[in-house]
Amino acid sequence: MSFYVTTPIYYVNAAPHLGHAYTTIAADVMARHHRQRGEATFFLTGTDEHGEPVADAAHALGVTPQELADRNAERFKALAPQIEASNDFFIRTTDPQHMTKVQEVLTRVRENGFVYEGTYEGWYCPRCADFKAENEIDEGNRCPIHHIELTREQEDSYFFKLSAFQERLEALYAERTDFVLPRTRYNEALSFIRSGLRDVPLSRHKLTWGVPVPWDTEHVFYVWFDALLNYYSALSYAPAPAGLPEDESADLLKTFWPPSYHLIGKDILRFHAVYWPALLMAAELELPEHMLVHGFLLMDGEKMSKSLGNVLDPFAVIERFGADALRFYLLRDVPLGQDGSVSTASFEQRYESELANELGNLASRTIAMIGRYRDGTIAPGEVDAVLREDFLGLSEGVSECLDRAELTLALDEIWQRVRRLNRYVEEQAPWQLAKEPTRAGDLDLVLRTLAEGIRCVTVLLWPYIPTSAERLLAALGAPGLSLAGAALGTGGIEQVEPLEPLFPKDRGERELQSGEGTVA
Ligand SMILES: [Zn+2]
Repeated sequence: MSFYVTTPIYYVNAAPHLGHAYTTIAADVMARHHRQRGEATFFLTGTDEHGEPVADAAHALGVTPQELADRNAERFKALAPQIEASNDFFIRTTDPQHMTKVQEVLTRVRENGFVYEGTYEGWYCPRCADFKAENEIDEGNRCPIHHIELTREQEDSYFFKLSAFQERLEALYAERTDFVLPRTRYNEALSFIRSGLRDVPLSRHKLTWGVPVPWDTEHVFYVWFDALLNYYSALSYAPAPAGLPEDESADLLKTFWPPSYHLIGKDILRFHAVYWPALLMAAELELPEHMLVHGFLLMDGEKMSKSLGNVLDPFAVIERFGADALRFYLLRDVPLGQDGSVSTASFEQRYESELANELGNLASRTIAMIGRYRDGTIAPGEVDAVLREDFLGLSEGVSECLDRAELTLALDEIWQRVRRLNRYVEEQAPWQLAKEPTRAGDLDLVLRTLAEGIRCVTVLLWPYIPTSAERLLAALGAPGLSLAGAALGTGGIEQVEPLEPLFPKDRGERELQSGEGTVA
């Protein structure tokens, strides 16, 4: 079994923002989960660096496109560790090995008879670096995404024979109804295919900032084809992930191709769900298994927190509350795949009530009671049968959700058990049991069950909140992260150590009191 997950490569023309963090975090959760399952896993992210917008922006700044790309790629590279992304490689489309691979694959597409020379004329958005079809032009001849006026462009191009794949794409969608998730996006892509596919330009003549077309170097490949091929080219030159057995490390394409999941935003659906499979068919390469199309996070500036103001700035959240809090919130609050609103107020509310109270407090309280009543020691034995029932099938259920890219649902499954453990504390009232010497065995059972329950949910939460989960598991003396060990009663905890608060409650307030917070 192997698992290969990708984010889109981010366009270096902009600075990293919440949307980039969101996609990368979601991909990271999937990658970490599959590593827990013991599967060979590869997680790819990177930057898209060619095309007219980069050339234009560089020109405006008085630098070369390469200088601008170098500068901005660093900012995206730096984003990954800030949000605790465990990507195995960071690809840049200006990497010479990528460029060679693009030329190689597209030459094969041409040799297979799917490229011809022609003239293209149409309405073009320079910000999208894309010609617009008649039915996707907004009023006033504007780009529906950028709202800027489109220009009429005509140029000699090589064309990709997309129309030749009409039937094969329809058959693909009929056969694999989970090729694009969620269903609304599958339907959207399918209806685009059914509306009739037309050939698309494969090269640009007027541009020089791109991968040269090897059979006609006056052209560069259209940036979208260059970009899409990153998912393939990366595996041809990335170093093997640490710990991968030698036989799987020798040829990463053999081990990891085709991708298990492409994570993409809905604005790049057509390129991924239509052009990309057609291109792979033309190159005789295997198609990805799934693509998960996430929605947009809409900022609700009305719901404002005292410590964070009205804009959910990922870097401000990380600085004040830690990356885990951001990761948790983004996947908890908006079901992945849908549009949804986020706000600083709902962030703080989830932080306080869920991370600080329901998880952090449960852990501190339990560890403190084991310290107070049993000197930090857990007596060996079974866990409470009542709770065993409630945890039955949990890790399997979480895996099933994640196989369908239902990251929010999986998190909710886990969180229901966090809440169950909180109820268990109240039901059993260990502080009462501690007063009755005849019930020493019951107290042992309750403390053991709580420690073990916390361990199980924490192993499952690790992909979402890796740093906090590792701290908590270390305090429980059970650092194992394997999913096979996430069943209740398999941990064998013997001794716990004191734990500093995982999610300190006064983080927002403390800043406010010191005068650094902003109250608008
Ligand atoms: Zn546009």
